[in-house]
Amino acid sequence: MSRGHNFSAGPAALPETVLRQAQAELLEWGGSAASVMEVSHRGKEFMAMAAQAEADLRELLAIPANYKVLFLQGGATQQFAQIPMNLARPDQRVDYVVTGDWGEKAVREAGSLAQVHVAANSAGNRHTAIPPRAEWDLDPASAYVHYTPNETIRGVEFFDIPDVGDVPLIADMSSTILSRPIDVSRFGLIYAGAQKNIGPSGIVVVIVREDLLQRCPKSLPKIFSFAEHAAQDSLLNTPNTFGWYLAGLIFKWLKAEGGLAAMELRNRRKAETLYACIDESGFYANPVEKSARSWMNVPFTLPRPELDELFLQESKAAGLLALKGHKLVGGMRASIYNAVTQQSVDALVEFMRDFARRRG
Ligand code: PMP
Repeated sequence: MSRGHNFSAGPAALPETVLRQAQAELLEWGGSAASVMEVSHRGKEFMAMAAQAEADLRELLAIPANYKVLFLQGGATQQFAQIPMNLARPDQRVDYVVTGDWGEKAVREAGSLAQVHVAANSAGNRHTAIPPRAEWDLDPASAYVHYTPNETIRGVEFFDIPDVGDVPLIADMSSTILSRPIDVSRFGLIYAGAQKNIGPSGIVVVIVREDLLQRCPKSLPKIFSFAEHAAQDSLLNTPNTFGWYLAGLIFKWLKAEGGLAAMELRNRRKAETLYACIDESGFYANPVEKSARSWMNVPFTLPRPELDELFLQESKAAGLLALKGHKLVGGMRASIYNAVTQQSVDALVEFMRDFARRRG
């Protein structure tokens, strides 16, 4: 069986060249006469690899020197709690801008840890548009403003970084990081689960402005403290060594492919190809306002729900994987992260046109 065109929302497609490299060095890695999974995280080979991965990520995102980069565990979900634990006092207001289901979850998890205020919420339009910045109810005294630049389930993405004044801006970039260049200096903290554009699941990358580490309460258990993880270069305890290694290979791959400027061109074209197919079909539909349509996650519906199962069966038979939409919204969703090629998107579009012709 050959590899399919993989549109999974996460864990998601990885570049085939990276998988082949990992396969080639699976048994003996980096002159250590053992697998990367079998060596100490405190050994010099692993530490050198980890430092190089961080350096490559810093180069790709042009991360300023006054930011720490952490490779942690617990996923983005753990960050929903760890961020208020570290950066807000229990009696302090924190502002959340909600444009989808992950933002809702972040609000719920922070609820017992700080005074959560929902500054804007697009639930009223079923998360199909971003509430205008002028309508956000922000407080300059808040500990931070949290938002989700790309909502993975409903495919709603910000293409500008909101101006929130001097309050640190915190972004859950799980499903958009590395898809195009961003100005890291505009953020207090960025976090992203690895399993979309970074590598396999099991790592969450946290990029945090150094001055914010002073807020981390000394009373926090060390394992939850950003300051402790930063002081120990993310080696406070045994990290996800294989995940870190594979993320390092992805960063090298991204650099070799031309970096994030090249990803931006590719991702724009892939998204345009797919949305054009949907809009021109008179058959498929995507409800998101055009200016907020995600480049990474493209949900779409068919005209009759009874066609869903048939679409999934036939697409799978055609080698197009993981197109079932999230259970909260139904329909279909094609996730087209960095490792999904234009060729895969073209194959999907060809299938969609043919399906619409036959079933329309
Ligand atoms: N935030 C966003 C935007 C996500 O897409 C996801 C996972 N799909 C999460 C958070 C949760 O990530 P994890 O499963 O790594 O905790």
